[in-house]
Amino acid sequence: MLGLMQSHGLLISTILKHAARHHATAEVVSRTHENTTHRTTWSELERRSRRLVRAMAKLGIKEGDRVGTLAWNGTRHLEVYYAAPGMGAICHTINPRLHPDDIGYIVNHAQDKVLFVDLSFSPLLGMIADTIKDHVRDVVMLCDAGSMPEVALAPGMRLHCYDTLLNDADDDYDWPAFDENTASALCYTSGTTGRPKGVLYSHRSTVLHAYAVALPDVLDLRATSRILPVVPMFHVNAWGIPYAAALTGATLVLPGRHLDGASLAAFFNTERVTLSCGVPTVWLGLLQHLRSSGERLETVKRIMTGGSAAPPLLIDAFRDEYGVAVEHGWGMTELSPVGTYNAPKVAQSGLSGEAATRHMLKQGRVLSGIDMKIVDSDNKELPWDGRAFGDLTVRGPWVASAYYGDEPGSALDADGWFATGDVATIDPEGFMEITDRSKDVIKSGGEWISSIALENIAVSHPDVAEAAVIAARHAKWDERPLLLVVPRPGRTIDPDQVLRSFEGKVAKWWLPDAVIVVAELPHTATGKVQKLALRERYRDHYMED
Ligand code: AMP
Repeated sequence: MLGLMQSHGLLISTILKHAARHHATAEVVSRTHENTTHRTTWSELERRSRRLVRAMAKLGIKEGDRVGTLAWNGTRHLEVYYAAPGMGAICHTINPRLHPDDIGYIVNHAQDKVLFVDLSFSPLLGMIADTIKDHVRDVVMLCDAGSMPEVALAPGMRLHCYDTLLNDADDDYDWPAFDENTASALCYTSGTTGRPKGVLYSHRSTVLHAYAVALPDVLDLRATSRILPVVPMFHVNAWGIPYAAALTGATLVLPGRHLDGASLAAFFNTERVTLSCGVPTVWLGLLQHLRSSGERLETVKRIMTGGSAAPPLLIDAFRDEYGVAVEHGWGMTELSPVGTYNAPKVAQSGLSGEAATRHMLKQGRVLSGIDMKIVDSDNKELPWDGRAFGDLTVRGPWVASAYYGDEPGSALDADGWFATGDVATIDPEGFMEITDRSKDVIKSGGEWISSIALENIAVSHPDVAEAAVIAARHAKWDERPLLLVVPRPGRTIDPDQVLRSFEGKVAKWWLPDAVIVVAELPHTATGKVQKLALRERYRDHYMED
């Protein structure tokens, strides 16, 4: 027997309509290309998104078409975020930090019909125009008529001004209802190996994820929150915040392209931001700025860190010096992205000081809706004892089942689980801790060593700005850890002293056999250390010895 409740699809447009009707005056604030502050409201944003649908229809965009964006976190980008899926098309956010060859590949693979582009990326557009001309017919610059740049497009491509298109369109449009499983957005994984792969979100997965991240034990979003996602809207939908903010009527503060410590601190304070989200590199930059300038964060209470492991220094310094809680979450493009968040259960709620920091290094427990387990190489589930390491697999309504263009279900095992490629432990309370990417684990004498645990200790040293531990081949032990460190500005690193700082913190056989001081580490387009490149360069370090 079916239930007798109304059946309304979980559509992205319903989130926006809710914000416009019930939080009409709540603000969307953004930093513009010219570094000025633009203010609007959820109701105005909804009205402009309707105009944008009309404008896109004039460009020939139809249901199912891919609408590409090359843009920072800003209001016009947010309008594309809602207008494209709202009309049944697909918002394809492209990471502009990727190599232009990869960007060209992604645009062609997705067969984007139109690109919405920020002024900062007009040179990039010139570089890829020839490669993408078979698919992209129209390019819309996200600016006003007076700011239109000169861009050399390929013959047959048309250049438009966003504001002009919107001014010429009317807002007489009703958001249509359709199947909630319709594709809504497309995002390619950063692809540290091989070509980037597309993850195709649906309206249903997006709305469920937005509900889940808004919950009290995750972002705890409210109508009184003022949230600033530093994480870019081109990286897994800014962790779902553009949707979760509208869902709750929170004020959304978008930082544009200025993501350095000084710009962020100023924007946080003038816009009275209460909560922010970003990767550890951003927070380390902010910390460095606060310490050197003496500035304070006047309203920020919590910052969420994810994307790579949170260094303990970050947690300690923000809590002890600035009274700001650093909260740790984990996810990936294939998970929309949030899978776990580290909020205390009863047993952890009384932790303080070092014990609290140690606990916060864990990536957290699953959001309700997601299930996870760790398995050995025979796919047998391992115990939740906080010690057994295994391959982390997940399933749930906002986990990908296949990559774009592949057969549904092709990314899953026979029982419907998705292998994350991360190696983790899970403790008896269900708190998961990542120890490595599976391809980054160090196997010394048949035993695993966690590179993340070693990196956390290394970056706690006062002279070390950044650290990476990789597996280097070893004649006796097969592999041994090798530590690469970048000095903090104005400091010199003494490798022996750094090694001594490991003593008593990990088993003796985990200690790196050598420390190499480097000026910088290579990073992927999403800010993760490129361990593959490091392994290629230093793999034989111990063999040469
Ligand atoms: P992406 O799809 O680019 O967001 O990358 C996802 C990957 O980033 C995950 O599979 C993890 O390897 C890594 N990652 C994300 N969050 C964390 C975290 N809090 N700690 C450690 N690694 C993380």
